Amino acid sequence: LFTRPWIFIRGVPAMKFLPPEGPPEIAFAGRSNVGKSSLINALVNQKGLARTSNTPGRTQELNYFVPGGFSGEGADLPPMALVDMPGYGYATAPKEKVDDWTKLVFDYLKGRVTLKRVYVLIDARHGIKAKDDEVLSLLDKAAVSYQIVLTKTDKIKAAGVPRLIEETLQKIKKRPAAFPFVLATSSERNEGLEELRAAIVLAANG
Ligand code: GDP
Repeated sequence: LFTRPWIFIRGVPAMKFLPPEGPPEIAFAGRSNVGKSSLINALVNQKGLARTSNTPGRTQELNYFVPGGFSGEGADLPPMALVDMPGYGYATAPKEKVDDWTKLVFDYLKGRVTLKRVYVLIDARHGIKAKDDEVLSLLDKAAVSYQIVLTKTDKIKAAGVPRLIEETLQKIKKRPAAFPFVLATSSERNEGLEELRAAIVLAANG
């Protein structure tokens, strides 16, 4: 599945532009610059699929990707869709932008039956910050299953990774919708990607 070419379906600025519910959806969320585009590209082995280094002014959209080669009709639906959620936490974002983000994301989280899991990306150098905590609370409120993925682990000492995983688990253990395993990845070094792909396939079929 992840060796096929994936294609961009559409950018969704509001709920009414969502594609009809079909395949199970797996979404990705994270602070801007956490390495979300790089991780999606690494997962599907396609450099240009998700845009890297998004600019703060960019329109906030849910970006839909599916593996290519399925007609999308009848039983020939793609087995899953990946949804790249807009990054959050720009220091300079005006309040109405933040409100737009929250509305779009919360509407999607609450209203999308086919959404199976959200992967919340956390920079291994920073761990869970206040803004991330707000998003985790939103996910708990929407009762959508989510799992934490540490990114850029190549930027910290190897010995620090198990400790960070442990600290992160401690921080989320009281959260009702959090999946109690934390994945560690480096898109730069292609580490942790097989584990993440396996987790995604399980979540999509669960
Ligand atoms: P996004 O805003 O979350 O989509 O983040 P990007 O994927 O655009 O990445 C932001 C910056 O982090 C870019 O300069 C990437 O090259 C860098 N980056 C992303 N993933 C990694 C990684 O695994 N290791 C390292 N060292 N840098 C990374």
